[in-house]
Amino acid sequence: MALMWNRPIEWDADEWRKLAACKDTEPDLFFPVGTTGLAIDQIEAAKQVCYKCEVIEPCLDFAIATNQESGIWGGTSEEERHHLRKVWLATQYQSNHTDNTQSHQ
Ligand code: SF4
Repeated sequence: MALMWNRPIEWDADEWRKLAACKDTEPDLFFPVGTTGLAIDQIEAAKQVCYKCEVIEPCLDFAIATNQESGIWGGTSEEERHHLRKVWLATQYQSNHTDNTQSHQ
């Protein structure tokens, strides 16, 4: 999956949400309780919906940039997004630091 981590937050959330494959599914499917037992099957079922969703990339971008800690977003679990968000924050920090360094020269 190719994600555009440096993309500025310029998307219209309402626009991509209109195309969400999950909009007509049971919301509880995307918010499993826990990460063991039945929740494992629920997480996998939600991800399968995401993998067929045409807005998986903007959905994940949104979830990372807005720190959606709960549920399945863009085909990722809470734990997976936690790691991705760390990478995203580091990239944002590096980008901002580089910009500030260049503006002081
Ligand atoms: S990627 Fe998954 S959570 Fe995001 S809009 Fe599509 S189906 Fe819903």
